[in-house]
Amino acid sequence: MSDFDVIVIGAGIGGMTASIYLKRANLNILLLEKSIPGGQINRSSLVENYPGFVKIDGPTLAMNVYEQVTNLNINYQYGDVKEIIKNNSHFIVKTSEKEYNTKSVIIATGRYPKELGLENEKELVGHGISYCALCDGMFFKGNDVAIVGGGNSALEEALYLSNICTKVYIIHRRDTFKADKLLVDKIINKGNIIIRYNSQIQSLKKSENKLSSITLDNGEEIKISGLFIYIGNIPDTKCLEKLDIKLEDDYIIVNNKMMTNINGIFACGDVIKKDTYQLTTAIGEAATAAINVSKYLEKVN
Ligand code: NAP
Repeated sequence: MSDFDVIVIGAGIGGMTASIYLKRANLNILLLEKSIPGGQINRSSLVENYPGFVKIDGPTLAMNVYEQVTNLNINYQYGDVKEIIKNNSHFIVKTSEKEYNTKSVIIATGRYPKELGLENEKELVGHGISYCALCDGMFFKGNDVAIVGGGNSALEEALYLSNICTKVYIIHRRDTFKADKLLVDKIINKGNIIIRYNSQIQSLKKSENKLSSITLDNGEEIKISGLFIYIGNIPDTKCLEKLDIKLEDDYIIVNNKMMTNINGIFACGDVIKKDTYQLTTAIGEAATAAINVSKYLEKVN
């Protein structure tokens, strides 16, 4: 006997979307999340490419989807999944506190922010270093800050910070950005954003246990009180170690039905290997995964 038809791991936009589809298909589901609903979108100050909203901030979008989850009475529980074990045709999902038995699983664990790996980086988190401009930007109101990275996230958050902080330095390791052209134009035309191309941070200096400056690889020292790191993400697949699931560069390989190589385990969103990592692609994959889980359960029941 299984406790659930399906357990969805991760309540980011993908996991919540899959849960909405599964619940509406009348399946007995459990949605597990180890942090807050919304996942990485909570780090976005502005979303302008999600159809239906001209402009919306990430946390509001996350809460709107979460409202749909609660309105449907979806069984949503806190759970930090440590392990998934295959037990004949069923699965045991183990969190730090509990164990659940389920007929199928959707992995929607997403990704977490990459660190620069500099000395002092870890101890300065919360003391000048942050991975979320929207969460921590206001602490640096009227101060000078820097942001590292050249993708959409770094540039969007640099624009956000430029409305709060006096100066925003962008430290980018190349001479061109990989972010959307429209965004790059806005950044270049923003008076208080200063770009350091072909540059990497070599060291962090602290004073009274707070970040006080960064030194670039060309020797330049920039005095700042905040450093925001937006250099990409790492897929969160730690809970899959005991499963023989196919990964590439730590991302889960799925077919066009969002099925992994293990019957009964599906995946969607940022944790899968794919070309495009967008909110809009994650919700499409989530719907596909949920629909195919329903078909899978019809066959095995
Ligand atoms: P990303 O696109 O992977 O960009 C990461 C940036 O950080 C790159 O410029 C990269 O440099 C740089 N970088 C990586 N490792 C570094 C290191 N160790 N030191 C210094 N710089 C380093 O990551 P992202 O901006 O977080 O975006 C992730 C995905 O989400 C992308 O597909 C993006 O398009 C999407 N996204 C979309 C939106 C939107 O459409 N509104 C918003 C945010 C994110 P290189 O250029 O040299 O590789």
